[in-house]
Amino acid sequence: MSKINIAFFETKKWEEKYLRKKLQKINANLLFCPEMLDKKTIKKYKNIDIASVFIYSKINKDIISQLPKLKYIATMSTGFDHIDLKACQKRNIKVSNVPYYGENTVAEHTFALILSISRKIPQSINVVRSGGFSPKGLMGFDLKNKTIGIIGTGHIGEHVARIAQGFEMKILAYDIKKNVDLIKQYNVKYVSLNKLLKSSDIISLHVPYNKHTHHLINKNNIKLFKKTAYIINTSRGALIDTKALLRALSNNKLAGAGLDVLEEEGFIKEEKELLSSNNIINSNLKTALRNHVLIEDKRIIITPHNAFNSQEALERILGTTADNIKAFMRKRIINKIAIK
Ligand code: NAD
Repeated sequence: MSKINIAFFETKKWEEKYLRKKLQKINANLLFCPEMLDKKTIKKYKNIDIASVFIYSKINKDIISQLPKLKYIATMSTGFDHIDLKACQKRNIKVSNVPYYGENTVAEHTFALILSISRKIPQSINVVRSGGFSPKGLMGFDLKNKTIGIIGTGHIGEHVARIAQGFEMKILAYDIKKNVDLIKQYNVKYVSLNKLLKSSDIISLHVPYNKHTHHLINKNNIKLFKKTAYIINTSRGALIDTKALLRALSNNKLAGAGLDVLEEEGFIKEEKELLSSNNIINSNLKTALRNHVLIEDKRIIITPHNAFNSQEALERILGTTADNIKAFMRKRIINKIAIK
C-alpha cells in the first residue's frame, strides 16, 4: 500500500524540524511548504490526504475541489473561520483544530496591549528614541481599582481574569455560560453585556467569532461605553463594527483601543489579493480603508495578529497538531470541529 501524503503549509524550517521529529514513527510522506495553500501552491499538492494549515490558507470550496484525496485538515490554530466547514462536510473531510495552545499567551498579550495604553509605552519609547528623556506628556493611569470587563470567560478569558486579579482590578464578566470557579477564585462578577459595557474602564473581547458574535460591539451598544474606556480585541476583528468604532472615537465616546485583530485583516495583509479578486474588492475595500484610518489614529495601538506568537505557544500548536494527525491515522478524531 502506498504511503499517505501529509502536507504542512505556512511552516518555517524550525517547525518542519519539530514536526518531523514528532511524527518520525508514522508511515507517511511529510511535505512542507513555507507558503500558504492557495490557487498557486495547490498545483504541487494535488495528491495530499491530509492538509495542515495556518489561518492564512483559505480552505474554500474551490481549493477543496482540487484536492480529490483530501480526508483530513489539521489546522494549526484555534480559530477555523478560514475553513469552509460545510464544503468539508459534503466531501466527508474531517477537521480538527488546536483548541487550547495559547490561553496564557493571548492573555499575556492582552495585558501587553493594556499596559502599552495605560503607561503610554509606545509614546515613551518614541521620546527616548528621538533623543529626549522627559516624562512630560507621558502620564498614564493605574490598573489597580479599575474595572475590567471580560467578554468571554473561556480558556483565554480565564487567564485574563487571573492576571487582572494580580493587578487588583475589579473584574466584571459576560458569557453565555458562567464559569463558577472564576467567581470563587478571582472574585469575578457576571453581569449583562450592557451592564459590563457601561461599567468597565477596560473591555476585553475573548469570545469566538460566529454569526451570533458578528459586530458584538456595534453602533447601538458602543454608546454605552464610558468616555474614558478602552476596548481591547485579541479575538477576531469582526467582533467590532469598525465603522462604529471609528465614529465613536471621532465623537470622543471612548478613549481608545488596543487591537491585535482587524476586521477583514486579510485584505490589509495581502493587498495583491484585493487586486486579483474582483468580486470581493467592493465589499471589503471600504473596511480596508477604515482599517487604514484605525492604523493612523494615535489613540489606537495595533499589533499584527501576534497575540499567539510566543515560542512556547507555537510549540504547543505543533505538538497538538502532531497528536491530532497521529490520532487520525489510528482512525480516531480528536479536537474535532463540529459542523453546526
Ligand atoms: P473558548 O472557546 O475557550 O472561550 C470562548 C468563551 O466565549 C466561552 O466561555 C463561551 O461560552 C463564550 N461565548 C461564546 N459565544 C458567546 C456569545 N455569543 N456571547 C458571550 N459569550 C460567548 O475560546 P478561547 O480559547 O478563550 O479563545 C477565544 C478567542 O480568541 C478565539 O475564538 C479566537 O478567535 C481568539 N484567539 C486569538 C488569537 C490571536 O493570536 N489573536 C489566538 C488564539 C485565539
